[in-house]
Amino acid sequence: MAPDYQTLLLAIGLAGFCLSATLFASWMSARVERFLLSWSIGIGCIVPAVAVYSLYIDQANVAIGCLAFTLQFLGFAFIYGAAYRFRSGASARRRIAIVFAACLAIALPPLVAGYDGIAFIALNLLITACLAATAREYWRGRAEAPLPLTGIVTLYLLTAVSFLLCAGVLIHDGRWVMGHAPDNWAENLNLVAAIMGITGIGAMSLALNQWRVAGSHRHAAMTDALTGLLNRRALFDRYGALPVGEHQAAIAFDLDNFKAVNDRHGHAAGDAVLMVFADILRDSCGVAACLARLGGEEFVVVLERTLPERAQRIAERVREDFAAKLIPIGGRSITCTVSAGIALAGENGTSFDSLLSNADEALYMSKRNGRNRVSLAA
Ligand code: GH3
Ligand code: MG
Ligand code: MG
Repeated sequence: MAPDYQTLLLAIGLAGFCLSATLFASWMSARVERFLLSWSIGIGCIVPAVAVYSLYIDQANVAIGCLAFTLQFLGFAFIYGAAYRFRSGASARRRIAIVFAACLAIALPPLVAGYDGIAFIALNLLITACLAATAREYWRGRAEAPLPLTGIVTLYLLTAVSFLLCAGVLIHDGRWVMGHAPDNWAENLNLVAAIMGITGIGAMSLALNQWRVAGSHRHAAMTDALTGLLNRRALFDRYGALPVGEHQAAIAFDLDNFKAVNDRHGHAAGDAVLMVFADILRDSCGVAACLARLGGEEFVVVLERTLPERAQRIAERVREDFAAKLIPIGGRSITCTVSAGIALAGENGTSFDSLLSNADEALYMSKRNGRNRVSLAA
């Protein structure tokens, strides 16, 4: 026996309620991914919308209809907002408000005026547009997790098509005044699509969130928290196991008399100096260079396909810019210098370890010769 319309509505309500609660709990556990909260609010609005709509089916009263429409529009506006927030990371409040207001302005007047057929056509078309815009946002952000995001986009589009069919059947029937809720094959199909959409998208959204959390942990494990450069582990993950390519160069940097900076101005001032130095590295080395902080005040730059002159030019520029930089510390400015050592991979290939230790030897030559200078390994 096929389930009747009200049973399907109940299924949507229950599925939606459970999903909304799960999403809310996931958001509560970390409170970083706000798209989960928007999603949870969106689905949370669909649940009472379904309940109110089920009342409207029994008694096609204008006030009940307006309430059902309003809750649905609010829900779909939030679902769109969640997608926008997910993709852009920016607040979606303004967009949610605009989408919601536009939907109300288009669909409520005909409902109030008694043209419920037109109002239901508008409702279905507007929800189709919201879902298509939602799918578009996830599609634009699909690079982050191609598989789950393509699945989510597909489910949103299928659900959108089911709403479009509802509008299509109503337009085809051409009854602008109905006096009751629409009742046709497209409505039944729409409910089945909605159940699939809610449960499928919900499960995939949670998977997506896990994916994101894992990604941010991976990123944190590879990044130096103070400077945002790669850390030692990331540097060795990238280069440690491979033989060094011909014309690869490593420049080792070590700030001069840095302990004295800490002793004289405090640890926070030392941290500020380290951040300034990292910014100078970013500005001077070009996007292709790999920049890492090995620990303390020691940094490494790895350059691919580089001639000795270019490595020397970059190291000199970093040294000069850093020495010239006035670093504001507690109302006054201090300066600091850096020493560098350059090593180049020979034609016969070496390990990354020995490339680094050659750069280190050159660096200690710079230190021995008076600091604030660049030396090239023999
Ligand atoms: P040299 O010119 O020979 O390199 O002398 P130096 O004083 O720079 O070298 P040394 O290795 O004696 O001192 C390094 C100092 O770096 C010691 C330590 O307190 C400081 N340091 C290490 N990590 C950090 C950090 O994260 N923040 C700050 N502020 N200081 C750090
Ligand atoms: Mg040191
Ligand atoms: Mg030092």
